[in-house]
Amino acid sequence: MREGKCPGKWTDRTSLRDAIRLKRCKVTVEKGEKMRLNGSVSIWLVSIPKTIWLPADSYRDKKYLAGMAGDILHNWEKKSKERHKLYKQYLQRASKNKVLNQLPELHTEAFDKVDCLKCANCCRNYSPRFKTPDIKRISKHLQLRESDFIEKYLKVDEEGDFVVKSLPCPFLGSDNACSIYDQRPSDCQRFPYTDEDVIIKRQPLTLKNSTFCPITYYVLEKLMAAGQ
Ligand code: SF4
Ligand code: SF4
Repeated sequence: MREGKCPGKWTDRTSLRDAIRLKRCKVTVEKGEKMRLNGSVSIWLVSIPKTIWLPADSYRDKKYLAGMAGDILHNWEKKSKERHKLYKQYLQRASKNKVLNQLPELHTEAFDKVDCLKCANCCRNYSPRFKTPDIKRISKHLQLRESDFIEKYLKVDEEGDFVVKSLPCPFLGSDNACSIYDQRPSDCQRFPYTDEDVIIKRQPLTLKNSTFCPITYYVLEKLMAAGQ
């Protein structure tokens, strides 16, 4: 939604407040934009520019869907930054059960759309925790003594966890593939937690992940568009 007209004023935030006060607002919808009315009725793609009466209670959905016409992942970093506050509000009010029901499908869909081998933002910028079973498994795979593995690759962070000494992760190849993929730490196997309740339970983590992980961004956007 790029523009709207309301009896009275209609400009960005002010217009949204007016919409709530006046209950209904007249808005102009551009060709190709998606809108959802009354929270759950339907999403329709507008084929010609038209003016409609928009119930005030759908303003949030309208805002979520703004700019989502076309490729949801286009310019995702910019959109994710702009929508940070919306994500926060959404996570605070979301129904945990409804979210958990949606996650398996959205998680698979996101991994179909995003190629991690073209991204590797996580491996480049953040370290997983190396827990004891991870250290045992990986050092055995590398035919190193555990103490030598720790000395060569790991340090203890401020929370007392073993993490990589330096970034990008030393196991990340130039082709973005993980050289210890089958033995990688459990944190790496689970990341970005888009099929776990972590997405709701650890909201600061989800919000942080949405800034650099397109899969997290995608799942959040889809959850919000579905109103759950
Ligand atoms: S940041 Fe997300 S999309 Fe990118 S490689 Fe990691 S899991 Fe995949
Ligand atoms: S161990 Fe592999 S998957 Fe995990 S951060 Fe390093 S390169 Fe990425």
